Amino acid sequence: MRSMQVLEFGQPLVQTESAVPVPTGKEILLRVKAAGVCHTDLHLWHGGYDLGHGKRLSMAERGVKLPLTMGHENVGMVLAVGDEVRNVKVGDVRLVYPWNGCGHCEVCLAGQENYCLTPCTVGINRPGGYSDHLVVPDERYLVDLKGVSAIKAAPLACSGLTCYSALRKFNQARLQRNHMVIIGAGGLGLMALALLKAMGAKGAVVVEPDAARRQAALDAGAVAVVDPNADDAAQQIQKAVGGAVYDVLDFVSNPQTTELGFNVVTKGGHMVLVGLFGGAAPWPLPLIAMRAITIQGSYVGSLGELQELVELVAKENLSLIPVTTCSLDALGQALQDLEQGKILGRMVMTPEA
Ligand SMILES: [Zn+2]
Ligand SMILES: [Zn+2]
Repeated sequence: MRSMQVLEFGQPLVQTESAVPVPTGKEILLRVKAAGVCHTDLHLWHGGYDLGHGKRLSMAERGVKLPLTMGHENVGMVLAVGDEVRNVKVGDVRLVYPWNGCGHCEVCLAGQENYCLTPCTVGINRPGGYSDHLVVPDERYLVDLKGVSAIKAAPLACSGLTCYSALRKFNQARLQRNHMVIIGAGGLGLMALALLKAMGAKGAVVVEPDAARRQAALDAGAVAVVDPNADDAAQQIQKAVGGAVYDVLDFVSNPQTTELGFNVVTKGGHMVLVGLFGGAAPWPLPLIAMRAITIQGSYVGSLGELQELVELVAKENLSLIPVTTCSLDALGQALQDLEQGKILGRMVMTPEA
């Protein structure tokens, strides 16, 4: 099998060849049909995150081992199964839930493997889909596509799920009555707009510094857009929401955006932070208590949420994000383009392309 691997953090991906694995026990061998290129892959590739105050979160210290085949947004066709696999068969095409946990700790038993302290994530802790083959450890991680195409379904496993799970954390009835605020109109922000509509929410005011992205947000159904660099950005946001700002979803989460979000959210309001752009918290601590603000982190989503999301996308025939495709060989270039902000929407690798 051919894979594009990280052999050294920060260095170009290298194409490697290895024997096609034979699945045993509960394992399933897939032929990769689609693998999304995610912003998280940039952090993996570079080996860490900036935590602010000069601190860095190291991937090596978090158990990421090289060589690594990245790729956690995968759709594949079943090629072979181990002898304990019961419910999928050769030829089935499935979306892979990548956020695998240990399966027996408190959060895993509660169906939130994405919060497991010993993660075994596809494309991070075990080989992912930047390859033409992929082994999945258990059939429960395979999600029926419900008729959604492979390239449309692949990004649901991470970016789509991240949006959906973050939106599900808000009071759903309140989202139906009030405009929320979304910070960031990159791929995730645009997906969130489409999902909000499908979920029956009233809509969102989008905060984004880039003019082309603001236009993309308007085209995707944003109620209004605001440039955070304007002197009166906070007032503009509050005016566009047309009342108290209860709910803020931040897809950037750097010191500037989280300060702006905190400044606009009302007493008793709710901020959900999804972005991983780095930096440290800017809030005056007494105000968090006095204003009774809930600040919640959201990290990808659960298997159950991914199943719900695929159902919603199939039922509403949603196109969450424009997709462009590339070949396996072009993944290194795709990562560079993503890093330089040249990709509007999602790049999905198809080994046939
Ligand atoms: Zn666990
Ligand atoms: Zn991702």
